[in-house]
Amino acid sequence: MVGMALAKSLYAISTWTRTVRLVAEHHALQAALGCEDGVPSEWACYRFSKKLRENGAMIDACIAAVIVELHRRLPDYGRDVAIDASDMPAYANGQRLLSKNGPERERYSDPDASWGHRSAVSTRRGGGFYGYRLHAAVCTATGLPVAWEVATGRAHESLFIAPLIDAAKARGFDVATLAADKAYDNNRVYAECVERDCQPIIPLRRTTAVRRGDHLPPSCEHGQWRFAGSDYRRGAAKWRCPTGECAPASTWVRADRLHPLIPHRTLRWRALYRRRAAIEREFGRLKHEWALLPLRVRGIDRVTLHTDLTILAKLATTLERARAATAARIAARQPVGGAA
Ligand SMILES: [Zn+2]
Repeated sequence: MVGMALAKSLYAISTWTRTVRLVAEHHALQAALGCEDGVPSEWACYRFSKKLRENGAMIDACIAAVIVELHRRLPDYGRDVAIDASDMPAYANGQRLLSKNGPERERYSDPDASWGHRSAVSTRRGGGFYGYRLHAAVCTATGLPVAWEVATGRAHESLFIAPLIDAAKARGFDVATLAADKAYDNNRVYAECVERDCQPIIPLRRTTAVRRGDHLPPSCEHGQWRFAGSDYRRGAAKWRCPTGECAPASTWVRADRLHPLIPHRTLRWRALYRRRAAIEREFGRLKHEWALLPLRVRGIDRVTLHTDLTILAKLATTLERARAATAARIAARQPVGGAA
């Protein structure tokens, strides 16, 4: 049954029924899944997914085990993460009005979903969509998911920063920096990151304070002061007069949202923020290559299970590839029967 779930994600099939049909007509797949003497019926698959929904802890344990193994092989996995949310339109009618200029729709086939906002992509316009959003933390070095949560469309993304960092820590990741876009820029998010020893890499919204220039480094008649390193224990950044003629020539600026320990627009900040793109790529891969979309289930618990199984299939495949690579390296080092 686990093999069936893997085949469903690998072949990007949206329903169990189609997965069963595919396996039924391919002997090689049956051999790989070990079910030559009887392919499980679609009903067995649906019963299996019901059991999985009832035993959420089992899936979590399975995901955690795969992640621990991957982490052991990829030491950089999960140190610098990017967090974002992505839309998942529900398996329901996405029209807000019942008819043109008619009354607003009140009953939906998936009542757990809700109206959220999504940004424009390519030629698709931004705007409202009916469905769920996947909130995820992705490692920017390996591109692999670290923690994720499915929520209804209207839930605000900034509420998921703390739970996602906590989930990543629970899985053994020591998250050092967190890159996110402007939508996450507020004092609460900043505080939640700092409480968890994680440096936020978030661009500033143009708030009144930013328009006033409160976020700018100190300056004097010699010009704008230069960043001279941060003291993490002290929670302050050091800035220096560009010529050193001022007395004192340097000053400590206490860290806050406007003055983070990795200051905005420094090279390090830019490099880390540029790598935020990893999460957009991963959302694209999960949706288009791993059949995260289109959703063909309704209700948040089913959508969550579908997401968990999809990401688990991806992580398990990555782990298998890493294992094969290690085995190949070991084999190359010890030539079979090689003459000394
Ligand atoms: Zn000066």
